[in-house]
Amino acid sequence: DVLISQIAAGEVVDRPASVVKELVENALDAGATEMTIRIDGGGIQRILVQDNGAGIPATELPLAVTRHATSKIQTLSDLESVVTLGFRGEALASIASVSQMTVSSATAGATHGHAISNRTGAWLTEPAACPIGTTVEVLSLYFSTPARRKFLKTEQTEFFHCLDVIKRMALANPSVSWVVYRDGKLYARYQASDWSARVFGILEAMADGASKPIDFETADMKLRGAIGLPDAARGRGDMQFFYVNGRFVKDKLLNHAVRAAYEDVLHGDKFPAFVLFLNLPPTEVDVNVHPAKTEVRFRNSKAVHQWVRQVILSALSSSRA
Ligand code: ADP
Ligand code: MG
Repeated sequence: DVLISQIAAGEVVDRPASVVKELVENALDAGATEMTIRIDGGGIQRILVQDNGAGIPATELPLAVTRHATSKIQTLSDLESVVTLGFRGEALASIASVSQMTVSSATAGATHGHAISNRTGAWLTEPAACPIGTTVEVLSLYFSTPARRKFLKTEQTEFFHCLDVIKRMALANPSVSWVVYRDGKLYARYQASDWSARVFGILEAMADGASKPIDFETADMKLRGAIGLPDAARGRGDMQFFYVNGRFVKDKLLNHAVRAAYEDVLHGDKFPAFVLFLNLPPTEVDVNVHPAKTEVRFRNSKAVHQWVRQVILSALSSSRA
């Protein structure tokens, strides 16, 4: 069973950023409005996600860390819709199989909280003093699977992958406040805000304040957000955030459309910074190509590409006039 979990872990949590993603998704599912994330040693040493969500009742803690225990599927018919979102009830178990994990939690009605930990080798639950909500601490990721550990990049690179995931979630959840510590030091803070304040806050930090709002609409397509102004000196591949119908995507067609517009204006800037939200009728797009993938399939991809390129181009042109 440990082996099966470790194999499953290879798929669910291939690097620290995937752990962060799973823990943050759980916190959001639990209705958290405040999130504190601590990443030490690129997440390999420690990842801690503390939320103020609903918490886990003491009796359910052992279930939460067990494979295929999910509180999110009530009936068999739920299964189909839920599976596509990645709710498979194995994230915590998978992470625990390749780390030392402690889950501390308290619910609103309880007199005190409880913590469950596998640090002694077996799962042990104890009473614990903790605020309402859940804290998951993951120590020594992949210590038991050195082969997997070898695939990791430097701590620096792993940290920035974690941060990328956090920004991705923060952009989609502006009403949640986020605090990120790196190796014990405050690294980033995104205060609860409205959508445009969150978008501009994050984009301007990436684009050194030189940005341009995007807000265009046709009968059936809408593109909103902000783009950084062309700057050939930048050039990092981690400043691109595209959402389709509210869902984060990394799509070749869309990224190409944006990049082509930048190249039309300025021959350079291979990695423009942008945060863009495209909305179109559900009949025009299939976002469920694969639950784990971040690609989309458009019914009329040529038209989408042309329109996005045109919108970005006209925004860039007007900013240079
Ligand atoms: P899934 O999210 O697919 O259900 P997970 O392994 O990620 O599976 O989590 C297992 C269960 O543990 C969840 O269904 C939920 O009941 C509980 N849980 C995990 N994290 C949290 C959290 N931060 N707050 C409240 N409940 C949580
Ligand atoms: Mg989950």
